[in-house]
Amino acid sequence: KQTQERDKDKADRATAELVLDQRTRMILLQMINRGVVSEIHGAISTGKEANVYGAVLYHDFNSLPIQRAIKIYKTAILVFKDRERYIAGEHRFKGGSEKGNHRKMVQLWAEKEFRNLRRLHAAGIACPEPLMLKLHVLVMGFLGDKRGYAFPRLRDARLTGDDVDEQWHNLYIQLLGIMRRLYQVCNLVHADLSEYNILYNDNKLYIIDVSQSVEHDHPHSLSFLRMDIKNVGDFFRRKGVDTLSDRAIFNFITAREGPVDGPLLIEAINHLYEVRPTVAETDDAIAEVEVDNEVFRNQFIPQTLDEVYDIEQELDKPVDSLVYKHMLARQVVLDGKPSEEELQDSEEGTDGNEEWVHFEKGVPR
Ligand code: ADP
Ligand code: MG
Repeated sequence: KQTQERDKDKADRATAELVLDQRTRMILLQMINRGVVSEIHGAISTGKEANVYGAVLYHDFNSLPIQRAIKIYKTAILVFKDRERYIAGEHRFKGGSEKGNHRKMVQLWAEKEFRNLRRLHAAGIACPEPLMLKLHVLVMGFLGDKRGYAFPRLRDARLTGDDVDEQWHNLYIQLLGIMRRLYQVCNLVHADLSEYNILYNDNKLYIIDVSQSVEHDHPHSLSFLRMDIKNVGDFFRRKGVDTLSDRAIFNFITAREGPVDGPLLIEAINHLYEVRPTVAETDDAIAEVEVDNEVFRNQFIPQTLDEVYDIEQELDKPVDSLVYKHMLARQVVLDGKPSEEELQDSEEGTDGNEEWVHFEKGVPR
């Protein structure tokens, strides 16, 4: 009986450590042989769906080693079930989410993170540099200091100085800018944005964990955006920041016209403060904003032109008064031919997961 229990113990432990199964160890060995990393260190994070490990590459002996991070998706545990709704409905993943094949599903997930990271990185949004992908193992740049300490999550960031309030305010503005850029330039909604998936260092925010990020044409993309906006607002309000209404931010992010980077982008956000109808100073005003947020969060967001027309007929309302006024122009563009870049993006890396996928200017082979 005792032996049986011990065996079960062992099995449990093996399950917990299955992230480093034979195949995974093989991939890591290959990565060492190819000179992507020289050593793999302990776990920076162990999550439900993936573990993240620190790694180093000794490139020459005169300088410090290059830090890297390796995200290893767990192929063993069935935690990806609810994630199917993110992948279903994405044109980049047409051909099915491989329902029957769990391992394929997880690989798809890693591939999605890799590709999304590439988009962010190419758009100049601060994030880990995607370096290499093989099956469910993703190598990326390390966000941390030279000694190998990872930057804290925004949730754990400790700001110092006598202008902490101003710093929080500026971080909030910075993040709104990133969200707009992500939407307009990368064509993506993060879809799991919160203080847990943003790293902080020296007044700068780094976006991570983009495996579930979706394109605009995903049937839930705008609901995901609305959720991201709520999470961000909730967090910064807790930090005492005077936040804008969810609706104002939604319109700001989705508006096609307007700057997508630089000082003009910051200016555009400051302008939102100037033109907002209610200044959240008195209790009444704060309550009013809260009510508007609540209404907005429950509003139906049409995702296609057909839905827009349906609602208009039903409500007999002019386009302007509804949530989607900024989306009409975009929808037309999305309905048109995909851009050269999009076509390229959707072809890369789809010819079999066995391929090694390199970032353009990634590590030497
Ligand atoms: P999960 O799916 O488990 O949430 P994340 O991508 O959010 O995975 O990573 C989990 C944690 O690992 C993060 O909160 C962060 O602390 C750390 N981490 C992830 N990527 C990096 C990186 N490139 N550099 C440093 N730390 C990282
Ligand atoms: Mg995360």
